[in-house]
Amino acid sequence: MDRIYIVGAGPAGLTTSFFLSREAPSNSITVFDHRRKPGVPPHCTSIVGIETAEFYKEILGEKVIEKEYYSVTFHTPTRKYTVYSKKPIAYRLARPYLEQKLCDKLLDMGVEIRLGEHALPTRLGALVAGGKEYEGLVIAADGAYSLFRKKYCGWMPETITGLQRIVRVDKQFGNNFHVFFDPDTPCFYQWIVPIDGDKTVLVGYADCRIHSDPNRIFDKVLRKAGLRPVSRERVFGGPIIRDLPHRPYNIEGRIFFIGDSLPASKPVTGGGLYGIKELVPALTRAIVKGDPRIYDQSVEHLRKRFQQSWFLTRLFKYKYWVIADLFSVFQGEFEPGLFDLHEKIVWRALPRLPALLYILLRSLFIRTQRSRG
Ligand SMILES: Cc1cc2nc3c(=O)[nH]c(=O)nc-3n(C[C@H](O)[C@H](O)[C@H](O)COP(=O)(O)OP(=O)(O)OC[C@H]3O[C@@H](n4cnc5c(N)ncnc54)[C@H](O)[C@@H]3O)c2cc1C
Repeated sequence: MDRIYIVGAGPAGLTTSFFLSREAPSNSITVFDHRRKPGVPPHCTSIVGIETAEFYKEILGEKVIEKEYYSVTFHTPTRKYTVYSKKPIAYRLARPYLEQKLCDKLLDMGVEIRLGEHALPTRLGALVAGGKEYEGLVIAADGAYSLFRKKYCGWMPETITGLQRIVRVDKQFGNNFHVFFDPDTPCFYQWIVPIDGDKTVLVGYADCRIHSDPNRIFDKVLRKAGLRPVSRERVFGGPIIRDLPHRPYNIEGRIFFIGDSLPASKPVTGGGLYGIKELVPALTRAIVKGDPRIYDQSVEHLRKRFQQSWFLTRLFKYKYWVIADLFSVFQGEFEPGLFDLHEKIVWRALPRLPALLYILLRSLFIRTQRSRG
């Protein structure tokens, strides 16, 4: 079998390398990343549902789970409500521990990891890195701004910018995270996520425009939650994909796209780790069996599922909070598994159509009244 070259030592590239070396140990694999340290600097909030948490726990052990959340409070222009469950609704993965631990495992398995090397596409089944050309099967896991996707698909997905800051606050914030819909960030939302046992939170937002003063938004979000910043640490963030997986998902079986380069991120939240967990096993099977269709079928299946929630996301583009209002029919009875399955939330809500219509009309009516007032 050809040598395999993986571009990107993010979760997509490293998880794919791990599965490939486990399922086909005789393969020679090289991973390139232009960063000197995998996962550093971080950009992601790393909130995942139970399936993704279990997936990484199985590979990397308990330590990869940094925190569990039992409830989520939504603040929309028309209501504030909390969904909760006896089991954790969501988890925060430890990053960059995830990347570092995967790299350690890969090195033990004989994978070559070339950090500080920028890889460029040249021709199908080849790339250049560090002034040298490499020929073999290429896996483009090079993130939201993938050069490989741009070259072979001539396309860049729609993205918004997410920014967040670690802040020490004056009070203990508990075990639930908060999501705020606010006119300051009309294309997306804002969040506060407690990140350790004491008084440290991650406050963030994402939007389709760049804000000149992110601290103004961070402070406003904290104020809304009744928190006062005591000390502020680093700001980090990056692009969040707002698009569906783009066809083709592979080019003649010589180059495959995975992770944000595909892109496979959840429409409503933009979370990309779920898509990686869903697709890496199929990509591995496709490569081991030499049948790219296995991968195409899996991506197609995921795409169809995502399309359903995309419909809602697009429909309510600048009234994003209406979707959150609809989810309020689940108040107090949220099944943990639903965190990753947005389309199921919608289907499950359908039998409650009268309640949904009432919520929808009320939300729109109150909003219209307020904007007139
Ligand atoms: C603010 C924010 C919050 C987020 N919150 C969540 C969340 O809560 N839950 C969730 O599931 N997802 C979240 N995401 C999305 C998640 O971070 C991404 O979906 C995930 O990181 C995608 O992994 P990846 O490996 O495809 O790409 P990346 O993590 O971007 O990794 C790509 C790697 O490729 C390297 N690279 C790129 N180009 C080249 C090149 N030419 N040569 C060599 N190396 C290259 C980069 O250095 C990088 O290390 C968030 C994203 C942002 C920005």
